[in-house]
Amino acid sequence: MGRVALVTGGTRGIGAAISTALKEAGYAVAANYAGNDEAAARFREEAGIPVYKWSVADYDACVDGISRVEADLGPVEILVNNAGITRDAMFHRMTRENWDQVISTNLSGVFNMTHPVWPGMRERKFGRVINISSINGQKGQAGQVNYSAAKAGDIGFTRALAQEGARAGITVNAICPGYIGTEMVRAIDEDVLKTRVLPQIPVGRLGEPEEIARCAVFLASDDAGFITGSTISANGGQYFS
Ligand code: NDP
Repeated sequence: MGRVALVTGGTRGIGAAISTALKEAGYAVAANYAGNDEAAARFREEAGIPVYKWSVADYDACVDGISRVEADLGPVEILVNNAGITRDAMFHRMTRENWDQVISTNLSGVFNMTHPVWPGMRERKFGRVINISSINGQKGQAGQVNYSAAKAGDIGFTRALAQEGARAGITVNAICPGYIGTEMVRAIDEDVLKTRVLPQIPVGRLGEPEEIARCAVFLASDDAGFITGSTISANGGQYFS
C-alpha cells in the first residue's frame, strides 16, 4: 500500500476531489469531516475511502481522530488541511461568533491538525503538509474579513513551518484556489455569480475541484521535494500575487 494521506474536509467539494485523486494515485487515504453531511461521507466510504468524524476546530478531537486513523492505516505522511467554512458579513455586521468560528476552523484547525502529526514526520524524515488557503487570503475580500484573515494566516503558517521542516524532509505548501464550483461557491446567488464573479475571472468559468486536486497530488509526490514554503495560485488568472 502507498503512503498514508489524511484529508480534512475530505468528503465534499475540493476535499472530496483531493481524496479521490490521492487514492487513484496509490495513497492510502483517510477523509475527515465534521458530521454535517452524512450522505457525502457514506458516498466516500462506498468509494473505498475510510471516513472519520471530528471537528478540526477542537485540538483534543484532532489528537484522538489522528490516533484512530493511524491505528487503522499507519502513520500520517501526507496531511491535507482542506476543511474550511465561511461566515460572511460586512465588518460592521460581523459578530464575534462569525469571527471565532472561521478562525477556529480555517486557521486554528491547521495548527490543531499539523501539530500532532509533526513529531512523527520529523522522526521519519518525511512529510507533506498541504494547506488549502484561498485567493481571498492573498488579496482580501470585502464581506470576508474573518475568512481573509484566516486564509492569509494559513499562508504565513505555511512559510514559517516550511523553514522548520526543510532539514527534516518535510515540505509545507499552500494552494490558493480562486472560485471553484463547490457548494461553498454555489451558495452565492446565481445572478451575483453571473454578473459579478465570472466577469472577474479571465478564463471565464469557475474552476473544477479536480483542478485543485491535481495540484495537491503533485505537491504530495516525491517529484515535488524541492518545493516548500510555496503558494500555488489556481484561480483562472483572476489574481497574480
Ligand atoms: P465545502 O463546503 O464544499 O466542503 C467543506 C468540507 O470541510 C466538508 O467536508 C466539511 O464537512 C468539512 N468541514 C467543515 N468544517 C469542518 C470542521 N470543523 N472539521 C472538519 N471538517 C470540516 O468546501 P469547499 O470544497 O468549497 O472548500 C474546501 C476548502 O477550499 C476550504 O478550506 C475553502 O476555504 C477553500 N477554498 C474554496 C474555494 C471555493 O471556491 N470553493 C476557493 C478558495 C478556497 P461537513 O460535510 O461535515 O460539513
